[in-house]
Amino acid sequence: MPDAPEPLVFELSQPGRTALRLPEIDVPDAAVPAAHLPAATLRRDPPALPEVSELDVVRHYTRLSRKNHAIDTGVYPLGSCTMKYNPKINDALAALPGFAHLHPYSPDHLAQGVLHLLWELEQALCALTGMSAFSLQPAAGAHGELAGMLIAAQYHRVRGDSARRTVVVPTAAHGTNPASAAMAGFDVVEIPSGADGVDLDALRAHADATLAALMLTNPNTVGMFEARAAVAARIVHEAGGLLYYDGANLNAIVGRARPADMGFDICHLNLHKTFSTPHGMGGPGAGPVGVRADLARHLPGPRLRRFDRPGERAPRFAWEPAGPEGIGRVRALYGNFLVLVRAYAYIRACGGEGLRAVSGHAVLNANYLMELLRPILPPAYDRRCMHEFIADGRVLRPLGLRALDLCKALLDRGFHAPTMYFPLIVEEALMFEPTETESRQAIEALARAVADIMAEAARDAEAVREAPRHTPVGRVDEATAARRPVLRYTPR
Ligand SMILES: *Cc1c(COP(=O)(O)O)cnc(C)c1O
Repeated sequence: MPDAPEPLVFELSQPGRTALRLPEIDVPDAAVPAAHLPAATLRRDPPALPEVSELDVVRHYTRLSRKNHAIDTGVYPLGSCTMKYNPKINDALAALPGFAHLHPYSPDHLAQGVLHLLWELEQALCALTGMSAFSLQPAAGAHGELAGMLIAAQYHRVRGDSARRTVVVPTAAHGTNPASAAMAGFDVVEIPSGADGVDLDALRAHADATLAALMLTNPNTVGMFEARAAVAARIVHEAGGLLYYDGANLNAIVGRARPADMGFDICHLNLHKTFSTPHGMGGPGAGPVGVRADLARHLPGPRLRRFDRPGERAPRFAWEPAGPEGIGRVRALYGNFLVLVRAYAYIRACGGEGLRAVSGHAVLNANYLMELLRPILPPAYDRRCMHEFIADGRVLRPLGLRALDLCKALLDRGFHAPTMYFPLIVEEALMFEPTETESRQAIEALARAVADIMAEAARDAEAVREAPRHTPVGRVDEATAARRPVLRYTPR
C-alpha cells in the first residue's frame, strides 16, 4: 500500500535483530581503550541505532521511494531547476569501476584516463560558452558564483583598483547571486528588472569607479532573453567592471548562443541542470567556473595541463599549481567528479547538433505549455518565452485561492508543482519549466490537470484549498515546519 504511512526505521527495530553477521575477529583487537579517551567524549549508553534485518531495510526504503515524486515517475516542471530526464547511461558510465573506485589521491600517471576526461570536459565547456578556460572544482551553482566573485575581486585587487566594492544584481536574480557577492566581500546593489530585462538606466547610475561587476542571468529568471545583455556589457566594461553570467538557464540557449559572445567575462554553469545529473533533494552538483583569457590566471588551482610530446602516441595530462594570482582551491580533490563524468557522457552523447536540439525543444515545449494554459492561467508577461515562463496565479484570487493551492492540487493529480513565488518581482508567480524531455502528450496531460483544477476551483474552492488529499502527507503548517522542524528522533 504506497499510501499507508511509513514508520521510522527506528520504529521497526527489534532488539537483537541484525542485517549482517561479521566473522569472528582473527587479529589482535586494536580498539583504543576507553581509558585513553577524554571522559567527556565517552558515551554513557550505547547509541539507539535501529536493529533491523536486511529485508526490513530494503522494504522500508523501497516503500519510502514510492512515496516520492520523481522525474522517473512523473512530470516535474519545477522552473529554474531544469528537472529534465537524466539518461540512465550516464549513471552506468559514472559507475564504471575505473571512475567510481579511483582513489582521489592517485598520482597523475595512474589517472591519465580520468584527467583526459576532465580536460575534454573543460574544452567542451569552453566551446559551448566561448570562455577561454574553466575550473571544474566548484560543487554547485552557488559555489561557482562564489568562485566567480572571488575571481572578480582578485582581478581588481591585482590591478590595485581597491575602490571597486559594488556588485550590481537585478531584482529578478536568484537569491544566491547577492549572497555570493556579499560572501566575496562586495557591497550588493539591486537594480530593477522585468520582462524587458535589466533596467539600463539604473545600471548606468551605478556604472562608476566603484563598480566591480554586474551579475546577469540570461535568459533571466522570468524566462525572457536579455536581448540587451551586449548593451549592458558595454556600459559595465566602459566603467571598468566585469560582467558575470549566471549559467543556470543555459538549457535555453545551449548550442545556439554563447555567453562570451554577449560580452560576459566570467560564468558558471550548473552541470546538474543543463547537463543531466539527478538533482532533486539537493545534490550532489557541479558548478564549473569559466573565464575569458586574461582572467584565467585567477582561476582556482591546481590547473589541468595537457602535454603533447613529439613521438608519443597519446597526450599526457597533469595537475599544475596555479600561479600566485589564483584565488586558491575552492574544493578538495577533483570536484564532484562523478557529476563531471555524467555531464561529459551527456555532452558526448548529444554532440553539438544534439545540444542545439535540446535548447530548441526546451523553448518549444515551454511555449506550447504556455499557449495551452493561456485561456485558464495567462502568462504574467504576454510574449514568447524561452525555456520557462511565469503564469499569473492572481487569477485564482477572485475564488479566494492562491498559487500555492493550485500547486498542492497538482500533487493530487500526479504532477510535481511548478516553482511558486519566485522570482519575487512577480506576485503569485507560477514558474513552469517542462524541459525538452517531456513529450507533447505529457505536456498536454499537465495542461489538462491544471484545467481540471481551475474547473474544480470554480465549483468548489474549498476542495482545492484542502488539497492535497492523496499524498502521504497533506497540508502542513509551513510556518511551524520552517521555524520548528523536528529533525531528530527521540526514542520513547
Ligand atoms: C539553481 C540556480 C542557481 C544556484 O545553483 P545551485 O546549483 O542550486 O547552487 C543560481 N541561479 C539560478 C538562476 C538558478 O536557477
